[in-house]
Amino acid sequence: MLSDKPVPGSGCRTVKTGRNTEEYHVIGGGVAGLCAAFVAKERGHEVTLYEAGEKLGGNMRLAAYPPGKGDITNMIRSYIHRCQKDGVEIKLNHEVTADFIKEENPDSVILATGSRTLVLPIEGIDHPSIIYGSDLLEGKRAAGKKVLVVGGGMVGCETAAFLGEQNHEVTVIEFRDTVGADVIHEHRVYLMKDFEEYGIGQITGAKVCRFFEDGVEYETADGEHHEARGYDSVVLSMGYRNYNPLEEQVKAIVPDTYVIGDAIRARRALDATKEAYDVASQI
Ligand SMILES: Cc1cc2nc3c(=O)[nH]c(=O)nc-3n(C[C@H](O)[C@H](O)[C@H](O)COP(=O)(O)OP(=O)(O)OC[C@H]3O[C@@H](n4cnc5c(N)ncnc54)[C@H](O)[C@@H]3O)c2cc1C
Repeated sequence: MLSDKPVPGSGCRTVKTGRNTEEYHVIGGGVAGLCAAFVAKERGHEVTLYEAGEKLGGNMRLAAYPPGKGDITNMIRSYIHRCQKDGVEIKLNHEVTADFIKEENPDSVILATGSRTLVLPIEGIDHPSIIYGSDLLEGKRAAGKKVLVVGGGMVGCETAAFLGEQNHEVTVIEFRDTVGADVIHEHRVYLMKDFEEYGIGQITGAKVCRFFEDGVEYETADGEHHEARGYDSVVLSMGYRNYNPLEEQVKAIVPDTYVIGDAIRARRALDATKEAYDVASQI
């Protein structure tokens, strides 16, 4: 059957894709997976989206917790709405494995498995007392009164502001000479106002070389070693690393397999959705 569905973003032009309707499996219900799912569905394919967790939205759900960012969840809401309206079949609590793909044998697979907390090989980092920033934002773990946030990029700074708003005493420690270096200018202005309002401390130019239950040891540019200790909780926020465990196996089963979003490299939501759109609108 030829698909003659309108192509999204093409000014509602109706085009023949020249392809048969195919069965697509989209793995991962973050913004990349959701976007790829509704675009593929609008192209006339049969699409099933699998999400390992009980909620859709992936890491962008966490982006909504820091001060002033609640509206960002609208993006997720509108993507879920489009998937539902278009008739994408959504399966939650379903962690896809290569064996499952083998059994199902879909025509194509889009892998949108996202990213996970970056855990660098630093002594003590794997101690159970260390709290991952994403677990904290999601309410899976709670921090004590005095908190050290390790990593002062966008997510670390927002996590610090989130804690500051809840009356924690917070310090951020960062390798670079400034915190929030990767934050877009206008957002950084407000983030720094939050830092001022909540009295968030900063230790910069500090390379963390050891974790303790109550703090860290760090090295400064002059080679000197220092300790920042006496905290009730240490929160890990040194970044995210792509999570793409299925690509090799799935490609061996289904050659028409694509990888999109943070599963390629952890970045921002708009990079993920652009890739999702580009891939799904070509298939
Ligand atoms: C705290 C925080 C704040 C952020 N703030 C912003 C921001 O303000 N602006 C911005 O642009 N970006 C922000 N980002 C980055 C943004 O969230 C990511 O770029 C975006 O979520 C990537 O989307 P994704 O769909 O590729 O991956 P993810 O959001 O990671 O989603 C991947 C999904 O795949 C699922 N999954 C994994 N393996 C399987 C499997 N085998 N089977 C089924 N499902 C599976 C996971 O459960 C997850 O739901 C933030 C990130 C974090 C962590």
